[in-house]
Amino acid sequence: MELEGKVALVTGGSRGIGAAIALELANNGADIAICDLKSTDETARLLDAIRGLGRKASFFPADVANFNRAQEVVAEVVRALGRLDILINNAGINADHVIWKMTEEEWDRVIAVDLKGVFNYSRAAASIFRTQGSGKIVSLSSVNGLRGQWGLANYAAAKSGIVGLTKTLAKELGRYQVNVNAVAPGYIVTPMTEPLPQEAKDEALREAVLGRLGAPEDVASVVAFLCSDRAKYVTGEVIKVDGGQYI
Ligand code: NDP
Repeated sequence: MELEGKVALVTGGSRGIGAAIALELANNGADIAICDLKSTDETARLLDAIRGLGRKASFFPADVANFNRAQEVVAEVVRALGRLDILINNAGINADHVIWKMTEEEWDRVIAVDLKGVFNYSRAAASIFRTQGSGKIVSLSSVNGLRGQWGLANYAAAKSGIVGLTKTLAKELGRYQVNVNAVAPGYIVTPMTEPLPQEAKDEALREAVLGRLGAPEDVASVVAFLCSDRAKYVTGEVIKVDGGQYI
């Protein structure tokens, strides 16, 4: 198995895309640390499923927007699971409004979780990865961070910020053999997209040249590839996983 002996930390990993990534990495042999706001029945089922694959699985409660907690979580993961090899910056939220209706609070919270959260965890992991001379960071951007989208000023700015952060960290950490990449999903069916208006789903479906909306597993398999040695000469990349929605 490609990731045997590796430990992966997945932020926001309790459900949706993060849960699919956690399972896929475990399927490839990694032990898994999940960090999320709170542990739910869904989290417990996921941890059981990972353990059922013969892998270790632990949960760490955290708000990724909290800088100090990020340092603590990374240290706790190393204490509990022995090491850290892979960081998946997946936790994200949306709070959609056109710019003239978006509140300061909606702007600040989305930037704090979706962008500062990636900084917080990447910074905490970077010290470990530099010292051990290896590591993988994969962050969840979005096609809407690459092209902008009506009503998503805060979200698109954060997801676009992840692109600049990814390329910068790739340059800073490359000499330590750390690969830093991002994936930019299109519309993926998860609890985040469930409440969106039908017209948003219809538009995404019209755009998707593969003729369907995405599933969390579509993203998870690309993330697992980026975490594997098969992608060891890939860094600073942003890979769209969108069924052709961006074309
Ligand atoms: P979900 O809302 O289904 O899952 C997000 C997870 O992140 C939840 O478990 C949530 O916890 C957790 N979370 C939210 N805020 C925080 C926080 N402050 N600290 C820690 N954990 C937190 O989202 P998706 O699975 O759809 O999305 C995963 C990532 O992929 C996000 O970054 C998203 O922006 C990105 N993405 C998603 C797309 C899609 O179409 N679904 C498209 C492009 C990108 P809780 O349940 O407690 O809120």
